[in-house]
Amino acid sequence: MSTSSATRIPIVRPEIGDAEIAAVSRVMRSGWLSQGPEVAAFEREFASAVGAAHAVAVSSCTTALQAALLGLGVGPGDEVVTVSHSFVATANAIVAAGARPVFVDVRRETLGMDPGCLERALTPRTRAVVCVHQIGIPCDLERIVDIARHHGVPVVEDAACAIGSLISWQGRWERIGLPHGAVACFSFHPRKVITTGDGGMLTTNDPGLANRVRQIRQHGMSISDTARHQASQVVFEEYLEPAFNFRMTDVQAAIGRIQLARLDGIVAERRRLAQRYLEAFHDHRLFDVLREQPWGRTNWQSFPIVLRDGADLTQIAAMQHLLDRGIACKRGIVNAHQEPAYAGRSNWTKAASESLAESERLRDRAILLPLFHGLTDAEQDRVIAACLMMPAESRI
Ligand SMILES: *Cc1c(COP(=O)(O)O)cnc(C)c1O
Repeated sequence: MSTSSATRIPIVRPEIGDAEIAAVSRVMRSGWLSQGPEVAAFEREFASAVGAAHAVAVSSCTTALQAALLGLGVGPGDEVVTVSHSFVATANAIVAAGARPVFVDVRRETLGMDPGCLERALTPRTRAVVCVHQIGIPCDLERIVDIARHHGVPVVEDAACAIGSLISWQGRWERIGLPHGAVACFSFHPRKVITTGDGGMLTTNDPGLANRVRQIRQHGMSISDTARHQASQVVFEEYLEPAFNFRMTDVQAAIGRIQLARLDGIVAERRRLAQRYLEAFHDHRLFDVLREQPWGRTNWQSFPIVLRDGADLTQIAAMQHLLDRGIACKRGIVNAHQEPAYAGRSNWTKAASESLAESERLRDRAILLPLFHGLTDAEQDRVIAACLMMPAESRI
């Protein structure tokens, strides 16, 4: 069967409305395009949305992670325990900070770091832990923070996909980003739940860390250019350390402010759509779906299905079956240790003593289905029908 690409259901369709376009025009006419008042307003609104004391906007989640690690003092010779099963930027940020990623396995139920594996991977050289709320699903944060605290190392949450996800913390529902570790890092790439084209945000309750990251994102400058422009007396800035340009522009921040204001509606719609998938695939003969843990609520940044161990259908055949019916899908999350960038680089990575079997299983069995606000029920019904008709074994 073939379907023209005009009717293909995409994996994601970013929703940009008139309000975003008007906000961009307003900034374009304002005379200030780079990091300025819109970024400052976006930071205030984001911090208050997640309940953090400080938010710092940067150019991407990758640079947020790098700045967070540098701000925490991570550097050459240090080990950072993280998961291999993540978008490769998680590991790249650790290498960019000069440290060595130590990969541990994930839990099948959450796709997130297995706290037992973390405990065994910590050494005197461990300087930080980077856990991931993978595709928006909260990881076992309470246990991870507990173990890390016990060893005196800070936790960085890679919350790239997790804006709007909730975690029950000591019995209270809180948004991811109210940092229980040292810092949480978000992405605004179009594939995520809200977007600024590209962009990132870091949240923390530590004022010292927030200031350090502000300096790292702007060439190590002692005073921001907005503050310098507003000063009534001549001020000379100083450059306090070799650093980077990790800034977000005011044009991006203006888009982000509108998107953030819509977050609740976006997450509610994603949860409604996910519920429809969960009901339709209850007890599917070939694949499993992920159920939420009692302590975590996902924003359903992606909807994964995981082919059962006994199934004769391969991941590629299942994906081809969907593509033949005009449905775009993605293979599951990759593993850094299986990519050429990391495979065999023992000087960069230290294999934790145990296997990454669950990570490898998930990479080869998970498929991400289309799920985004704006996906119509009729489109979703087509995806559901195609999944229900999956052949029991691979024909290719
Ligand atoms: C998307 C993603 C990133 C990278 O985000 P960018 O904003 O594109 O740099 C990092 N980690 C995870 C888990 C992601 O999903």
